Amino acid sequence: MTRNVPTDHAFVCESCDNRWYYTRERCPECRSTTADAYRLQQGEVVTATTVHATPPGVRSPNRIGMVRFEHDVTIVAQLGDDSAAGDTVQFGAVEVLRDGDRSVSGARLVGLE
Ligand SMILES: [Zn+2]
Repeated sequence: MTRNVPTDHAFVCESCDNRWYYTRERCPECRSTTADAYRLQQGEVVTATTVHATPPGVRSPNRIGMVRFEHDVTIVAQLGDDSAAGDTVQFGAVEVLRDGDRSVSGARLVGLE
């Protein structure tokens, strides 16, 4: 079974303009239930590392990074290349991020040409 995670989208609260990344039923700030999803554009790599001991179904080695987007939305995600701190990245093509029973597909972050 594949779980489709909208990895390239974040959410903005229509009441208080708070922003967050993972799907939530309510705004964590004002508890409003009205939020809009929007597509994350370009982000800056804050820090990156390569993980060799990965969970089942996840590639090894696995390059991951903490990436900050506009409005301080910061996420941890797989990187599609050797991007490092200070690099500008954006979401690439959708791929299988985790294979097997708990399969997850989404886009990795790749450096701009
Ligand atoms: Zn809110």
